[in-house]
Amino acid sequence: MQELQDKIKALNKVSGKLEPSQDQRQGLITEAHSFADSFLAKVASMPTYSGASVDRDMSIKAEAIPLSQLLDLFKTEVTEKGIQPASAGHLGYIPGGGLYASALADYLVGVTNEYAGVHFASPGAVAIEHAVLDWLKAVFSFPTSAVGNLTSGGSIANLIALTAARDKYGIKNELIPKSVIYLSEQVHHCIQKALRIIGLEDVIIREIPLDEEFRLQPQVIAEAIAADRAAGLNPFMVIASAGTTDTGVVDPLKALGELCQAEGLWYHIDAAYGGFFILLEQTKALFDGIALADSLVVDPHKGLFIPYGVGAVLVKDKAAVMHSNHYTANYMQDTISDAHPLNPADVSPELSKHFRGLRVWLPLQLYGLEVFKACLEEKLLLTHYMRQKLTDLGFEIGPEPDLSVSYFWYPHPTDPNGFNQRLMDALMADGDVFLSSTRLNGRFVIRIALLSFRTKLETVDRAVRMIERCLRNVEFGNVE
Ligand SMILES: *Cc1c(COP(=O)(O)O)cnc(C)c1O
Repeated sequence: MQELQDKIKALNKVSGKLEPSQDQRQGLITEAHSFADSFLAKVASMPTYSGASVDRDMSIKAEAIPLSQLLDLFKTEVTEKGIQPASAGHLGYIPGGGLYASALADYLVGVTNEYAGVHFASPGAVAIEHAVLDWLKAVFSFPTSAVGNLTSGGSIANLIALTAARDKYGIKNELIPKSVIYLSEQVHHCIQKALRIIGLEDVIIREIPLDEEFRLQPQVIAEAIAADRAAGLNPFMVIASAGTTDTGVVDPLKALGELCQAEGLWYHIDAAYGGFFILLEQTKALFDGIALADSLVVDPHKGLFIPYGVGAVLVKDKAAVMHSNHYTANYMQDTISDAHPLNPADVSPELSKHFRGLRVWLPLQLYGLEVFKACLEEKLLLTHYMRQKLTDLGFEIGPEPDLSVSYFWYPHPTDPNGFNQRLMDALMADGDVFLSSTRLNGRFVIRIALLSFRTKLETVDRAVRMIERCLRNVEFGNVE
């Protein structure tokens, strides 16, 4: 017995390092804090893209390394390479945000290690997750009886929604190859991924021809449904987007919703990028009919500027979501109670679930909604401002954007695609601001996506200066 106790005490001398003393904590937080401060002091002006790759040793060593060395590694290898996602100049793909208030929330969540999977374990964390979901239901006019979940992002949120649709309509076995989903070629590719993951790889996916501005056409879907029914197939779902990734357009949500109701189909809307623009007077009409959706996805780590790692899904049919996600294990028997609110773990594949509600709840409460609305409106106006500036430089621009994604190209007389590709290469090599490109109906175009809360008037001026500089270089052949 004595020998055993001595061994345990000897081990504690080593393992006790995992619990730093107050002085040690003070030292660690001071170092981390000064790192964060110097990062934030330059983030608005730092280059947004560097093509450099990791060249220092990141491997895990058996021995301990001081925090200062690790922070130095983090600085050079993580924050100075690739796209700078926290930078004001991130105007590519769909930029995320990185609110400081959410970083504090994550710190508190880490320290307390509260866990938001089941009500029994942390009624407070679950209440905060439900407060965020209830707010989302109110914003999108979903009934309070709808259920929801905070996920790692839009991809998993879409996966949960599509699984519920599958289970509601019993799409399995021999029904799979006869079942039909209608969507746009502009749908985010995480939809196709999710369908494969949930065993629906062999359903029939009808990519519906779009109008000139890349929107779904309800009449075309109605005709396709009729033809499929006549052929003995099983139409069961329409997927619309409220803000496509490539062109930022919102599908005609109301007409599609009415069609789904009339036809008895599941109506899913992916509003991961665009959803929060419903908060603005000038864009809210675009979202008319969003409440007709059976399931809806939004991404707080896009439109609410939260750091990466939080998406959200709302589903009206609770039983459909629970079918695949609710399961009880013997060892969980103490946690089950009908008296409590729904457990987040019953609406998600996750069990030990990160308490990500706090990173959304805290900034919303701390700043109030008007601040978020002003920031979204600023992004809309900056988009118009940038399009105007690009027109002045001689660029062609895409149609009037629904939201804050748009695109442009240089009307080169003989080789437009080649020229714009070279311009894009030059923009990447410059890297002051980060833009991305895509192809629309065979045309190479450069996208602008304004959604970072740090993007301001001076950022757009900087972007325009960079584009002009690169345009001159490519025009005069100075770029290899
Ligand atoms: C970003 C995005 C997704 C994917 O979401 P993640 O958060 O990256 O997983 C899905 N759909 C749309 C429209 C998006 O913009």
